[in-house]
Amino acid sequence: MNIWTFFDLAQPACLVCGLASGRGLPLCAGCEADLPRLGPACPRCALPEADPALPDPARALRPGSPCAHCRRHPPLTALTLAPCRYEFPADRLVQELKFHGRLPAARVLGHLLAQAATAAHANRPLPAALVPIPLHRKRLRERGFNQAERIAREAGRRLGIPVDTRALERTRHTSAQSGLDLALRRNNLVGAFRVVAPLPAHVAIVDDVITSGSTMLAVAETLAAAGVTTIEAWSATRTL
Ligand SMILES: [Zn+2]
Ligand SMILES: [Zn+2]
Repeated sequence: MNIWTFFDLAQPACLVCGLASGRGLPLCAGCEADLPRLGPACPRCALPEADPALPDPARALRPGSPCAHCRRHPPLTALTLAPCRYEFPADRLVQELKFHGRLPAARVLGHLLAQAATAAHANRPLPAALVPIPLHRKRLRERGFNQAERIAREAGRRLGIPVDTRALERTRHTSAQSGLDLALRRNNLVGAFRVVAPLPAHVAIVDDVITSGSTMLAVAETLAAAGVTTIEAWSATRTL
Protein backbone atom coordinates (compact mmCIF):
# COMPACT_ATOMS: atom_id res chain seq x y z
CA MET A 1 0.00 0.00 0.00
CA ASN A 2 1.54 3.34 -0.93
CA ILE A 3 1.14 6.44 1.17
CA TRP A 4 -1.67 7.86 -0.99
CA THR A 5 -3.71 4.69 -0.81
CA PHE A 6 -3.29 4.83 2.94
CA PHE A 7 -4.38 8.46 3.03
CA ASP A 8 -7.39 7.64 0.88
CA LEU A 9 -8.47 4.83 3.21
CA ALA A 10 -8.01 6.90 6.36
CA GLN A 11 -9.67 10.04 4.94
CA PRO A 12 -11.60 9.04 1.84
CA ALA A 13 -13.07 11.70 -0.42
CA CYS A 14 -16.75 12.45 0.14
CA LEU A 15 -18.76 10.74 -2.61
CA VAL A 16 -21.16 13.68 -2.74
CA CYS A 17 -18.98 16.84 -2.68
CA GLY A 18 -15.61 15.30 -3.57
CA LEU A 19 -13.73 16.97 -0.70
CA ALA A 20 -11.83 15.05 1.98
CA SER A 21 -14.52 13.60 4.23
CA GLY A 22 -12.48 14.16 7.39
CA ARG A 23 -13.45 10.75 8.75
CA GLY A 24 -13.24 7.07 7.89
CA LEU A 25 -16.40 7.17 5.76
CA PRO A 26 -16.64 8.44 2.16
CA LEU A 27 -19.29 10.98 3.15
CA CYS A 28 -18.52 14.23 4.96
CA ALA A 29 -20.60 15.32 7.95
CA GLY A 30 -21.99 18.32 6.04
CA CYS A 31 -23.25 16.22 3.14
CA GLU A 32 -24.65 13.66 5.58
CA ALA A 33 -26.64 16.41 7.33
CA ASP A 34 -28.03 17.58 3.96
CA LEU A 35 -29.25 14.15 2.77
CA PRO A 36 -32.95 13.92 1.80
CA ARG A 37 -34.20 12.21 4.96
CA LEU A 38 -37.48 10.36 4.96
CA GLY A 39 -38.48 12.00 8.23
CA PRO A 40 -41.32 10.77 10.48
CA ALA A 41 -42.97 7.86 8.71
CA CYS A 42 -45.31 4.93 9.27
CA PRO A 43 -43.28 2.23 11.05
CA ARG A 44 -44.96 -0.54 9.06
CA CYS A 45 -44.65 0.78 5.48
CA ALA A 46 -42.27 3.79 5.78
CA LEU A 47 -44.62 6.19 4.03
CA PRO A 48 -44.11 9.66 5.51
CA GLU A 49 -46.65 10.88 8.02
CA ALA A 50 -47.29 14.06 6.09
CA ASP A 51 -48.23 12.20 2.91
CA PRO A 52 -51.28 14.09 1.65
CA ALA A 53 -52.47 10.89 -0.04
CA LEU A 54 -53.07 9.46 3.43
CA PRO A 55 -55.24 11.99 5.24
CA ASP A 56 -55.37 10.81 8.81
CA PRO A 57 -55.58 13.56 11.42
CA ALA A 58 -55.51 11.00 14.24
CA ARG A 59 -51.91 10.18 13.45
CA ALA A 60 -50.78 13.66 14.29
CA LEU A 61 -51.75 12.86 17.88
CA ARG A 62 -49.88 9.57 17.93
CA PRO A 63 -46.50 9.96 16.30
CA GLY A 64 -44.94 6.63 15.40
CA SER A 65 -48.28 4.85 15.02
CA PRO A 66 -49.08 3.00 11.77
CA CYS A 67 -50.80 4.84 8.93
CA ALA A 68 -54.50 4.35 8.26
CA HIS A 69 -53.78 1.91 5.44
CA CYS A 70 -51.51 -0.28 7.58
CA ARG A 71 -54.02 -0.23 10.43
CA ARG A 72 -56.75 -1.51 8.11
CA HIS A 73 -54.52 -3.95 6.23
CA PRO A 74 -51.53 -4.83 8.45
CA PRO A 75 -48.63 -5.64 6.10
CA LEU A 76 -46.42 -8.71 6.46
CA THR A 77 -43.53 -6.52 7.55
CA ALA A 78 -43.43 -5.67 11.24
CA LEU A 79 -41.21 -2.68 10.45
CA THR A 80 -40.03 -0.91 7.31
CA LEU A 81 -36.92 1.27 7.47
CA ALA A 82 -35.71 3.70 4.83
CA PRO A 83 -33.37 6.44 6.04
CA CYS A 84 -33.49 8.49 2.82
CA ARG A 85 -35.88 9.46 0.07
CA TYR A 86 -34.70 8.31 -3.36
CA GLU A 87 -33.73 11.86 -4.31
CA PHE A 88 -30.47 13.68 -4.98
CA PRO A 89 -27.88 12.89 -3.78
CA ALA A 90 -29.04 9.64 -2.13
CA ASP A 91 -30.33 8.37 -5.50
CA ARG A 92 -26.91 9.08 -7.01
CA LEU A 93 -25.19 7.00 -4.32
CA VAL A 94 -27.45 4.07 -5.19
CA GLN A 95 -26.89 4.51 -8.94
CA GLU A 96 -23.11 4.89 -8.54
CA LEU A 97 -23.04 1.64 -6.60
CA LYS A 98 -25.42 -0.31 -8.79
CA PHE A 99 -24.59 0.82 -12.29
CA HIS A 100 -20.99 2.05 -11.96
CA GLY A 101 -19.68 -0.46 -9.40
CA ARG A 102 -18.59 2.28 -7.01
CA LEU A 103 -18.39 0.03 -3.96
CA PRO A 104 -17.57 2.73 -1.37
CA ALA A 105 -21.15 3.97 -1.87
CA ALA A 106 -22.28 0.75 -0.15
CA ARG A 107 -20.33 1.82 2.94
CA VAL A 108 -22.28 5.07 3.06
CA LEU A 109 -25.66 3.41 2.43
CA GLY A 110 -24.92 0.66 4.98
CA HIS A 111 -23.89 3.28 7.52
CA LEU A 112 -27.18 5.17 7.01
CA LEU A 113 -29.18 1.96 7.30
CA ALA A 114 -27.37 0.90 10.50
CA GLN A 115 -28.00 4.33 11.99
CA ALA A 116 -31.73 4.15 11.18
CA ALA A 117 -31.95 0.58 12.48
CA THR A 118 -30.32 1.53 15.78
CA ALA A 119 -32.83 4.36 16.27
CA ALA A 120 -35.80 2.18 15.30
CA HIS A 121 -34.79 -0.67 17.64
CA ALA A 122 -34.35 1.33 20.82
CA ASN A 123 -37.29 -0.60 22.32
CA ARG A 124 -37.37 -3.79 20.24
CA PRO A 125 -34.89 -6.55 19.48
CA LEU A 126 -32.75 -6.39 16.36
CA PRO A 127 -33.26 -9.15 13.79
CA ALA A 128 -31.08 -12.25 14.07
CA ALA A 129 -30.04 -12.13 10.40
CA LEU A 130 -30.00 -9.75 7.44
CA VAL A 131 -31.23 -11.23 4.15
CA PRO A 132 -30.25 -9.14 1.12
CA ILE A 133 -32.61 -9.48 -1.82
CA PRO A 134 -30.73 -11.81 -4.15
CA LEU A 135 -30.06 -11.11 -7.80
CA HIS A 136 -30.62 -13.85 -10.32
CA ARG A 137 -27.40 -15.65 -11.26
CA LYS A 138 -27.48 -14.05 -14.70
CA ARG A 139 -27.78 -10.49 -13.34
CA LEU A 140 -25.13 -11.27 -10.70
CA ARG A 141 -22.72 -12.38 -13.43
CA GLU A 142 -23.37 -9.21 -15.44
CA ARG A 143 -22.94 -6.86 -12.47
CA GLY A 144 -20.27 -8.82 -10.63
CA PHE A 145 -21.78 -8.11 -7.20
CA ASN A 146 -25.13 -7.75 -5.48
CA GLN A 147 -25.61 -4.15 -4.31
CA ALA A 148 -28.13 -5.20 -1.63
CA GLU A 149 -25.58 -7.66 -0.22
CA ARG A 150 -22.87 -4.97 -0.10
CA ILE A 151 -25.18 -2.64 1.81
CA ALA A 152 -26.30 -5.45 4.13
CA ARG A 153 -22.67 -6.43 4.87
CA GLU A 154 -21.82 -2.89 5.94
CA ALA A 155 -24.97 -2.51 8.06
CA GLY A 156 -24.48 -5.98 9.56
CA ARG A 157 -20.86 -5.26 10.44
CA ARG A 158 -21.87 -2.07 12.23
CA LEU A 159 -24.77 -3.72 14.09
CA GLY A 160 -23.16 -7.10 14.76
CA ILE A 161 -25.83 -8.99 12.77
CA PRO A 162 -24.84 -11.83 10.41
CA VAL A 163 -25.76 -11.58 6.73
CA ASP A 164 -27.35 -14.66 5.19
CA THR A 165 -26.84 -14.87 1.41
CA ARG A 166 -27.51 -18.59 1.07
CA ALA A 167 -31.01 -19.22 2.42
CA LEU A 168 -32.90 -17.16 -0.17
CA GLU A 169 -32.60 -17.78 -3.90
CA ARG A 170 -33.95 -15.92 -6.88
CA THR A 171 -35.31 -18.66 -9.07
CA ARG A 172 -36.40 -16.62 -12.05
CA HIS A 173 -34.71 -13.91 -14.03
CA THR A 174 -37.56 -11.40 -13.86
CA SER A 175 -37.69 -8.69 -16.49
CA ALA A 176 -36.75 -5.21 -15.29
CA GLN A 177 -39.34 -3.90 -12.87
CA SER A 178 -39.18 -0.25 -13.88
CA GLY A 179 -41.77 0.63 -16.49
CA LEU A 180 -44.24 -2.00 -15.30
CA ASP A 181 -47.39 -0.98 -13.50
CA LEU A 182 -48.10 -2.30 -10.03
CA ALA A 183 -50.19 -5.30 -11.08
CA LEU A 184 -47.59 -6.37 -13.65
CA ARG A 185 -44.80 -5.95 -11.12
CA ARG A 186 -46.60 -8.26 -8.73
CA ASN A 187 -47.25 -10.76 -11.49
CA ASN A 188 -43.64 -10.55 -12.60
CA LEU A 189 -42.50 -11.63 -9.13
CA VAL A 190 -44.84 -14.46 -8.23
CA GLY A 191 -42.68 -17.46 -7.44
CA ALA A 192 -39.47 -15.56 -8.18
CA PHE A 193 -37.89 -16.41 -4.81
CA ARG A 194 -37.42 -19.58 -2.78
CA VAL A 195 -35.98 -20.43 0.64
CA VAL A 196 -33.45 -23.26 0.45
CA ALA A 197 -31.99 -23.28 4.00
CA PRO A 198 -33.34 -22.60 7.49
CA LEU A 199 -33.60 -18.98 8.63
CA PRO A 200 -34.01 -17.56 12.14
CA ALA A 201 -37.52 -16.52 13.22
CA HIS A 202 -36.73 -12.81 13.04
CA VAL A 203 -34.96 -11.41 9.96
CA ALA A 204 -34.65 -8.16 8.03
CA ILE A 205 -34.78 -8.13 4.24
CA VAL A 206 -32.27 -5.62 2.84
CA ASP A 207 -32.41 -3.72 -0.45
CA ASP A 208 -31.03 -0.53 -1.99
CA VAL A 209 -34.34 1.10 -2.91
CA ILE A 210 -38.02 0.44 -2.27
CA THR A 211 -40.06 1.61 -5.25
CA SER A 212 -43.50 0.02 -5.37
CA GLY A 213 -42.66 -2.33 -2.52
CA SER A 214 -43.62 -5.31 -4.69
CA THR A 215 -40.17 -6.95 -4.50
CA MET A 216 -40.05 -6.60 -0.70
CA LEU A 217 -43.57 -8.03 -0.51
CA ALA A 218 -42.71 -11.00 -2.72
CA VAL A 219 -39.67 -11.79 -0.55
CA ALA A 220 -41.65 -11.25 2.67
CA GLU A 221 -44.33 -13.68 1.44
CA THR A 222 -41.63 -16.24 0.59
CA LEU A 223 -39.99 -15.91 4.02
CA ALA A 224 -43.34 -16.06 5.85
CA ALA A 225 -44.24 -19.23 3.96
CA ALA A 226 -40.89 -20.69 5.06
CA GLY A 227 -41.71 -20.04 8.73
CA VAL A 228 -40.07 -16.68 9.44
CA THR A 229 -42.40 -15.05 11.97
CA THR A 230 -41.03 -11.50 12.31
CA ILE A 231 -40.04 -9.86 9.04
CA GLU A 232 -38.57 -6.39 8.71
CA ALA A 233 -37.83 -4.52 5.48
CA TRP A 234 -34.67 -2.38 5.46
CA SER A 235 -33.91 -0.26 2.46
CA ALA A 236 -31.31 2.49 2.11
CA THR A 237 -33.77 4.62 0.13
CA ARG A 238 -37.43 4.79 -0.76
CA THR A 239 -39.26 6.50 -3.62
CA LEU A 240 -42.37 8.47 -2.70
ZN1 LIG B 1 -19.36 16.05 1.24
ZN1 LIG C 1 -48.18 2.36 6.72
